[in-house]
Amino acid sequence: MTARSSLVGDLDLDVTLDAPIGAMTWYGIGGRADMLVSPRSAEALELFIRRCQSEEMPVRVLGGGANLLVDDAGVDGVVIRLDHEHFRSTAFNAVGDVTAARVAAGVDLFRLVQDMSRRGLAGLEMMAGIPGTVGGAVRMNAGGSWGAFSDALDTITAVDFDGELRSWKAADLYFQYRRSDLPPCIVTEVILTLHEADPVEVRDKVKQIFQHKRASQPMADHSAGCAFRNPEGTTQSAGRLIDETGLKGHSIGGAVVSDQHANFIVAQPGASSTDIRKLIDDVQARVAAVHGITLEPEVVIWQRGVRP
Ligand SMILES: Cc1cc2nc3c(=O)[nH]c(=O)nc-3n(C[C@H](O)[C@H](O)[C@H](O)COP(=O)(O)OP(=O)(O)OC[C@H]3O[C@@H](n4cnc5c(N)ncnc54)[C@H](O)[C@@H]3O)c2cc1C
Repeated sequence: MTARSSLVGDLDLDVTLDAPIGAMTWYGIGGRADMLVSPRSAEALELFIRRCQSEEMPVRVLGGGANLLVDDAGVDGVVIRLDHEHFRSTAFNAVGDVTAARVAAGVDLFRLVQDMSRRGLAGLEMMAGIPGTVGGAVRMNAGGSWGAFSDALDTITAVDFDGELRSWKAADLYFQYRRSDLPPCIVTEVILTLHEADPVEVRDKVKQIFQHKRASQPMADHSAGCAFRNPEGTTQSAGRLIDETGLKGHSIGGAVVSDQHANFIVAQPGASSTDIRKLIDDVQARVAAVHGITLEPEVVIWQRGVRP
């Protein structure tokens, strides 16, 4: 039996070998994964992860690919994607004017925000215009000026890399700006706390936030959102530091610092993942030389042989 068949044989999951995962990201560039696996159930996911662990197979998890740069040479091991129906469901339990929404990790954030706004459930408006999945939003604690995903998070359920199903209260995980104490794991579902509200008010707030984002960010371009985290211990934003270094429009190959928002590094047609990486490094070095601050990348970079 080959390592591959002993990994996936008899499990309820879909397997694609040599899968073009770079093309599945918002950047739309980068190489392939040796194996892409889409489990059909939580049980299949748990069993599969246990087998990967015993075979010492590296495992990565791909959400919507909105914060991800895949190296041109692709990645080794296994990439998991929670795109089957089981991982895209939503259920509601209302008690008075508080609703607990049980949302699977593969649910698309745009759709979720729209769905909540149609139902007149307030609490997720801050996620308007942020692409990706619920699992990615938990891992990144995505958000912006109006708040972060953790503001609505009550409980997180995940499969850890030993294949065990685990659950945490969000309050115990010390969620902060783009990070938390959530250990390495594959988030499978969350419970969100939402509040009954006037659907028109929720919709208007979502619209206002979305319009603000559209006016200030190059949302139609290929990017991974903000390339760098805002530096801690200063009121300066990464975007302002890059702008003040005179880097708007600066390019390497097909990678360009956006004219609209200096913290967005966008891929023009023909750009490679290597172009983006070189520009990230170059921007980091130039900002450090001018401001004495080393910006930390926010975009997650996947490389063959480098453990995530
Ligand atoms: C145009 C644009 C605008 C953006 N604006 C914002 C913004 O305003 N605020 C903001 O915070 N971000 C923003 N982003 C970045 C991105 O939308 C968020 O980081 C988002 O949460 C990424 O989710 P994803 O599902 O696409 O994750 P991916 O990009 O697929 O993965 C990101 C990380 O999350 C991990 N991950 C994904 N799914 C799971 C899971 N189920 N369990 C455990 N880990 C998982 C991955 O392994 C990886 O480490 C923007 C991106 C773009 C392209």
